Amino acid sequence: MAKYITKCKLNFYNSKKAGKIAIVTMDNGEDYRKPNTWSIEALDSLNEVLDTVEKDSDVKGWLLVGKPFIFNVGADIMSIDPNVTRDDALAIGRKGHATFKRIMGLDIPTVAAINGAAMGGGVEVSLYHDYRCIAKDPGGCDHFAFPECFIGLVPGWGGTQLVPRIAGPEAAIELIINNPLNQNRMAKATRVFELGLADRIFPPAEFVDDSIAFLEGIITGEEKVEKKQSEPKMSDELYNQTKAYIVSRVHSGAIAPYKALDLIKGAGEWTLDEGLSNEDETLADMIVSPQCKASIYSFDLVQRRAKRLPGRPQNVQGQRIRQIGIIGAGLMASQMALLFARRYQVPILMKDIKQEFVDRGIGYVRDQLAKQVKKGRMSEADARWMGEDLIKGTTTYDGFEDCDFVIEAVFEEMGIKQKVFGELEGVCKPECLFLTNTSSLDITEMASKLNDPSRVVGFHFFNPIAVLPLIEIIKADKTSDVALATAYDIAKKIKKTPVLVKNSPAFLVNRILLAMMDGVLKCVDDGAPFKQVDKAVVELGFPMEPFALLSLVGPAIALHVQETLNAAWPDRFPINQGLKNMVSKKKVSVYQGADVDPEVKEGWPQGDKQFTDEEIQQRVLERLTQEIGLTLEEGIVESPKDVDTAMIMGAGWPFFMGGITIYLDQKGYSTKVLGKTFHAGNPLAG
Ligand code: NAD
Repeated sequence: MAKYITKCKLNFYNSKKAGKIAIVTMDNGEDYRKPNTWSIEALDSLNEVLDTVEKDSDVKGWLLVGKPFIFNVGADIMSIDPNVTRDDALAIGRKGHATFKRIMGLDIPTVAAINGAAMGGGVEVSLYHDYRCIAKDPGGCDHFAFPECFIGLVPGWGGTQLVPRIAGPEAAIELIINNPLNQNRMAKATRVFELGLADRIFPPAEFVDDSIAFLEGIITGEEKVEKKQSEPKMSDELYNQTKAYIVSRVHSGAIAPYKALDLIKGAGEWTLDEGLSNEDETLADMIVSPQCKASIYSFDLVQRRAKRLPGRPQNVQGQRIRQIGIIGAGLMASQMALLFARRYQVPILMKDIKQEFVDRGIGYVRDQLAKQVKKGRMSEADARWMGEDLIKGTTTYDGFEDCDFVIEAVFEEMGIKQKVFGELEGVCKPECLFLTNTSSLDITEMASKLNDPSRVVGFHFFNPIAVLPLIEIIKADKTSDVALATAYDIAKKIKKTPVLVKNSPAFLVNRILLAMMDGVLKCVDDGAPFKQVDKAVVELGFPMEPFALLSLVGPAIALHVQETLNAAWPDRFPINQGLKNMVSKKKVSVYQGADVDPEVKEGWPQGDKQFTDEEIQQRVLERLTQEIGLTLEEGIVESPKDVDTAMIMGAGWPFFMGGITIYLDQKGYSTKVLGKTFHAGNPLAG
């Protein structure tokens, strides 16, 4: 944002052997938490530096570097005005190209010294240099990425044209398309070097000195660089393969990766100037697209709003956590143990009813830690310390008296959970908090048998815990402010995103997903083939086919949540007979290989109505709109922004759809079904 303007500062270094060297440092005057970005002002300051260097014939070399830990993370997406016109967008692209091309036009050797995080326009500026040095990971450049396709844009300052020219189309596809579509994965320096995008990789400690020495060597001729021979032309086979990959990730929901692929392919056919001009046009289209607007909105939700912890009681100090208890050692409990051990690094007790269950849970944690060691992300000593010393398994309550909070993840049955909390109350210290991971049970009722129900708070993780960052924090009737504040602090400590949800059947995300399933299942009941429904829904850009989601969640769990919702709202959540039959036959998927499982089909009563794909989409979206409208009316969450944050973080809803309420506004469903938009007056929703 404009508040922290990155300036390019010019210093000269008089090298004894190589002469006068221009050292240009990008720095916004803040520490690493406020990274360098490109803005119009930042580009202007680079232009000023270039004016000086171009005029000074004594200058023998140029080196561009960032501030500690950060090279440059590109244009600040939040600085894009939602009302920006296409012409303005075009001008932004052209200005970046024109500025960076001046570096290419310098008649002295140029080196980009990528000392730390480099993204988007930060990577792009480096591509206009004759050479790139990169600081080795870990500790140097651990984040090197083109996140544009993740947020509904394409790289617009040369990335699609220069990466294929420098390192070939495969490298461009990996960085510009595959990584962003793979949960916005970032490359590390080692990979960048392997791809041929960097000419030298140096340890972080002496990185700047090594890079200057490299430039001196280039100037004097002592240093010789073997450039990777790259052919920017893309084969039809690679083009088709990549297109198929994009279809598998986003279907027709997102436009940006398809456009990026065409630009990368074009790099093999166009002159550089033609390519940069095509990039300008595409970027301008993308900037004014609804998907980019939705992405900006999502980005703001996740990066800014969620970090302010909306809903945390003000001025309430959370409790200190020195020991943690977990009841249950099953699927969820063992994932929690792993996460708590890594983030809190305090003693953790995990209790189950049988030693073999405990052993299985602990075994899972140790396996996962071993995998981290194998990937080089953790030392063996740390893994041993966490897996053997910090986490202890037990079948008794011995040791629970020292826990500061205990979270239960036992079977989803009210009686069992109440019993567990009752037993804990007899053992734990009075200030110990009780968290529950229930997916659907009434937390007020769960706490009701305790002497002190104020210590109970809902803390609902989503499976798989390592992938889905959401925690629904549920306040029961008597939950104390300290319990609530501590729950927020725990979520923050384990790097999850909390959303405050009212104690209500199935809470928020599962209720919305089940409403979507209700729309889906009714289409099947009326006669639509399973595969047609899957295809129609996924075409909208949803994260996965609904019947794949059903398998992931497990039909039994889905039915259980449906029953919970049915008990509260029988008209809107009827029990689905086909699903029920599937569960009684212990089926885990409606498909058997590529076809519908004949036993599932046989047990699924279907009508003979024929649907178009649009009719299916319409039904599902209308049902979603209706239910989200109701959750807001009932105050299940404070704002549509909470719904969107929760769907992005807890259900993998794509960024480019802006969660779900923005999408429903953009497509006109909220107006059609509810007679109003979720985001009145928000230009991003238009
Ligand atoms: P699970 O069956 O894998 O594990 C439950 C464990 O609890 C079992 O090992 C069982 O032996 C143990 N247990 C039962 N009674 C106990 C007792 N009295 N004392 C100690 N241990 C006891 O179940 P799970 O999938 O991990 O689900 C646990 C909870 O998490 C449920 O409330 C569920 O609704 C919730 N949840 C599950 C998911 C999911 O996707 N599985 C997601 C979010 C929340």
